[in-house]
Amino acid sequence: MPDLRLMIPGPVDVDDEVLAAIAEPTLPHYGARWMPLFNATTNLLKRLFETAGDVLMIPGPGSSALEAGMTSLVPAGEGICIPENGFFGLRAIQMAEACGIRPWVLSFPAGEYIDPDRLRAFLKETLPAANAEGHPIRAITLVHHETSTGVLNPLHEIAEVAHEFDLLLIVDAVASFGGVPIPVDAWGIDICVSVPNKCIGAPPGVALMSVSQRAWERAESNPCAHGWYLDLRTWAWYRTNWKDWHPYPTTLPTNNIVALHKALESIFLEGVEAHFASFARAFQAVREGLAGMGFSLFTNPAYAAPMISAMNTRPDVNVGELQHFLLDKHGIMISGGLGDLHGKIFRVGHMGRAKDASYTSQLLEAVHAFLNANGLPPNLA
Ligand SMILES: *Cc1c(COP(=O)(O)O)cnc(C)c1O
Repeated sequence: MPDLRLMIPGPVDVDDEVLAAIAEPTLPHYGARWMPLFNATTNLLKRLFETAGDVLMIPGPGSSALEAGMTSLVPAGEGICIPENGFFGLRAIQMAEACGIRPWVLSFPAGEYIDPDRLRAFLKETLPAANAEGHPIRAITLVHHETSTGVLNPLHEIAEVAHEFDLLLIVDAVASFGGVPIPVDAWGIDICVSVPNKCIGAPPGVALMSVSQRAWERAESNPCAHGWYLDLRTWAWYRTNWKDWHPYPTTLPTNNIVALHKALESIFLEGVEAHFASFARAFQAVREGLAGMGFSLFTNPAYAAPMISAMNTRPDVNVGELQHFLLDKHGIMISGGLGDLHGKIFRVGHMGRAKDASYTSQLLEAVHAFLNANGLPPNLA
């Protein structure tokens, strides 16, 4: 048991066997020792994305792949529809603006889900307006699991809306891929972006990205993609021309990919369904345990993601004090609320080792100890 236990919404505590894998001698990112490992990792990712299409590993954080996706598919000056319901949706809007893409924003209150019917109505009205203004909407960018509130947005229904309007769909699945099914081919997702350091339970260092045929074609015809490294055409060129030798433009963090491979192998060994179920189990244990101490779920359970528990604090519990106590006395790190939710909610992550019963039961004991230490009733109900 490490002396610091991460129960935040990422990065996550990694299993010992995955840590051991990252400590193996560094391999070069090409050649006969490396390529079988690279290909095996790519194939496991394709199985998890349920795709016959392509999967890239782009060194960098999830944001780098999201930026690559948005700017490669949509030229500066044109538009992306961004429905948002929290911090990471707002981040996607900032990203679009910084890249000269016009965001067409539909906002929902934090904690509410993105309603596909309202999105449909918004697009009906906004598509002609966007054309008239000369910033035509080409794509939708959606945050699947909005980690700031624990809302799991209805991706499948939103994909159907995208198809109705013939828009490309770019998904931030940073905190959902590997935690719930995301069949990118069946649902028609053009770009789906994630990272190893959330639901997969491996260290950070490389972004993961599925790319549909339609996305490759759109990138190819983009008159003004963004830079060199994050232009998907650069990646396409190396895939074609440096095929068996080095099918990517730069050095890869090979140790991180070895660790990712180990984590993916463990998921498939355990069974993907069982892996998904382990989040739901941890979520239920923590949510119920905390409800017994007077904390309620912030998000409507009907659309709560099982990867984190976002909880309203009690009127007599200061979130900052609770966080300090858990960290100082029990070595457990949890997260507070972001932005307007600061001081109102706290968030417990169930990704990586945090979904293990040893972590969830320690957390509940530690919260109980906090209430005791402050002379607060163990239950407000
Ligand atoms: C953690 C998180 C991110 C941040 O990803 P980086 O790898 O830091 O770029 C983005 N989106 C969501 C939904 C997240 O939970």
